[in-house]
Amino acid sequence: ALESLTVGLDITRRKQTELELEASEKRLQHLLEGHRRFVSDASHEIKTPIAGIQGNLEVLLRYADIPEEEKREIIQDCHREAARLGRLVQDLLHLARSGSGMLMVQDEVRLDQLVQDTLRDFESIRGQRELQLGDVPECVVEGDPDRLKQLLVILVGNALKYTPDGGKVTVDLQDHDRWVLLHVTDTGIGIAEKDLHRVFERYFRADHSALGKDPGGTGLGLPIARWIVQEHGGEIHLESDLGKGTTVVVKLPAPAITPH
Ligand code: ADP
Repeated sequence: ALESLTVGLDITRRKQTELELEASEKRLQHLLEGHRRFVSDASHEIKTPIAGIQGNLEVLLRYADIPEEEKREIIQDCHREAARLGRLVQDLLHLARSGSGMLMVQDEVRLDQLVQDTLRDFESIRGQRELQLGDVPECVVEGDPDRLKQLLVILVGNALKYTPDGGKVTVDLQDHDRWVLLHVTDTGIGIAEKDLHRVFERYFRADHSALGKDPGGTGLGLPIARWIVQEHGGEIHLESDLGKGTTVVVKLPAPAITPH
């Protein structure tokens, strides 16, 4: 009887190992599928500006008698596409890194100082928009200072990009017991309700016709922002009113107080 019990246990154990193997194979498949999609989406996005540049250069090469003004427009178009390509590659590198599970630095970061630095950086490109430092009490979070700076650059950059001249962008912080809250508020074009749940999708870009011109972008800023926030154990969401403005809310965990 003991023998058959041992055999029974053996079978159960083998079955369990088989199930575990199957599960990890599925996880691997899922991961590979994700990578494959990432690469094919990225190639598609990269091909578009390249095709634009090639088409324009071909026109320049083929036709000798293009009026000077038109020539200039074609060259400007190439310049824009090349700039877009540069941004795209840079953003894709950040995203690729995010998928590699690369460890972030863990430091005590003064978020209030980071906010002040970021606003100072944007001072020269705010144009006719007001850029206001709201209430920013001393706030410490644990994390990677470079990534957190990148998060602020994405959010403040978007707020300015989607706010026409005469508008206003405000950043403030709140230090709660267990959370630090960051708000980036703008009085810009806002996001339609039907688009709001899509803004974290890679490459998604809403309609920007209210701005009169496309400010340029890759649709990768918010996915990167979300990755940074999640790696810090936080949450991010957007609240928006079409035609009135947007607020991005980021919630980051306050460092645990270590007992003496
Ligand atoms: P992009 O490079 O296009 O700015 P993001 O991933 O940063 O890409 O944002 C995705 C889209 O979400 C933007 O194209 C824009 O339509 C919308 N969006 C993001 N931030 C704002 C904002 N502050 N105001 C209005 N729309 C915004």
